Amino acid sequence: MLKIECIVNGELEENCYIIHNNKHALIVDPGSESEKIIDKISKLNLDVLGVLITHYHFDHIGALNDIKNKYKLAKIYDYKSSSINEIDSFKFKKINNFGHTMDSCSFLFENDKIMFTGDFVFFETIGNYDDENEVEMLNSLKEFIKLDDDIKIYPGHGPYSSVGYEKEHNYYLRGIWW
Ligand SMILES: [Zn+2]
Repeated sequence: MLKIECIVNGELEENCYIIHNNKHALIVDPGSESEKIIDKISKLNLDVLGVLITHYHFDHIGALNDIKNKYKLAKIYDYKSSSINEIDSFKFKKINNFGHTMDSCSFLFENDKIMFTGDFVFFETIGNYDDENEVEMLNSLKEFIKLDDDIKIYPGHGPYSSVGYEKEHNYYLRGIWW
C-alpha cells in the first residue's frame, strides 16, 4: 500500500509528492524549496529511488538539481520514459498528455488507483494551453475520460480529486467542449 505525502512549495503553491512504501520513495515534481522536501524525506528515513517529472515548467522542477545531487542514484522519469515502468515495488504507467505543454505526462499507479496529473487535469479545471496545442489538449482529455472513475488524481496544484468526480464536474471533461 503506497503512502503519499504532499509538500506544497513555492509562490505558485506547487504540489510536490513523495510516494513511499517500505522505506523506498519516489518524488513527483520537486518544484522548489528543496530543503523542505529533503527534510521530509530524512524525517521519514526514506531511500529515494526515482524522480517523476510531469513537465518541465520551472515551478515543477526548480528543486530538481538539488534533488539529483542529494539522491545521486535516483532515476528520472518523464514524457520520454517507457509506458510501463517498474522500480522496486513501484509499478506505474507513464501516459503522455500533451496540451498544457508538449512534454506533459501523467503517472498512473494502476494497482493503487492513483494518478499524478501535473498541470493537465486539476480539481474542476484543466491546465492552460496555447491555441496551437488545442488539438493535443482535446486528444489528451478524450483519453483521460476512458480511465476508471475510482482512480484518485493528485494534481500539480490545488486539491485532490478523482477521475469520476472530474468527469461529472469538470466543464472541460463533460463533452460540452467537443
Ligand atoms: Zn505547468
